[in-house]
Amino acid sequence: MILIFLGPPGAGKGTQAAHIVTRYQIPQLSTGDMLRAAVAAQTPVGKQAKAVMDAGNLVSDDIVAAIVEERIEADDCATGFLLDGFPRTEAQAEMLDAMLEKKERAVDAVIELRVDESALTERLLSRIAETKARGDEVRKDDNEETFKKRLAVYRDQTAPLIPYYEKQGKLKAVDGMGAVEAVSAAIDAILVEFMPFEERENG
Ligand code: ADP
Repeated sequence: MILIFLGPPGAGKGTQAAHIVTRYQIPQLSTGDMLRAAVAAQTPVGKQAKAVMDAGNLVSDDIVAAIVEERIEADDCATGFLLDGFPRTEAQAEMLDAMLEKKERAVDAVIELRVDESALTERLLSRIAETKARGDEVRKDDNEETFKKRLAVYRDQTAPLIPYYEKQGKLKAVDGMGAVEAVSAAIDAILVEFMPFEERENG
């Protein structure tokens, strides 16, 4: 099962990804996490990406696509994977379709988490407060100003993926405003058609 999570920053993709990983036993491939790891390790890609990420802009399509293409070759991706934060532009979506086609694979479903924009800034501010309360370091791009930039980038460059996948008949929208468990249940209801029959019968 190859899944994509689509939604603005703060929509709850990371939270719901954890649920999917446990329930469906497929890895979560977060390009944001992979890029942050590259930055921390000061690899050539990381050095190039750092300033771009800190400003809330997108890293180049070629770099991100290359990272994903390499990652999905790994054994743990053989039965499927969940893409979180990729594709983020129409060019990336086309690159993904092309790389999967080469391997005779395809995206099964795109889950769009729909959230009111007004709720997103509030979620960000509580995420920052929680991170600080835990004594962890706050992400450089997690401040109100850069967040606004990330939202604008989402609207301009990523939201066009909604009609892109709608046309392919793969888009499944979920109301992301409810409680975490309610959102998970809505996702499960969609994914039931991708589960083997026996698992469906046994819940
Ligand atoms: P968010 O929490 O906003 O969803 P992520 O953790 O997914 O953010 O990504 C953080 C940053 O990493 C992005 O703002 C961008 O600079 C970079 N990034 C992550 N994924 C991609 C991608 N697919 N294409 C380009 N840049 C990306």
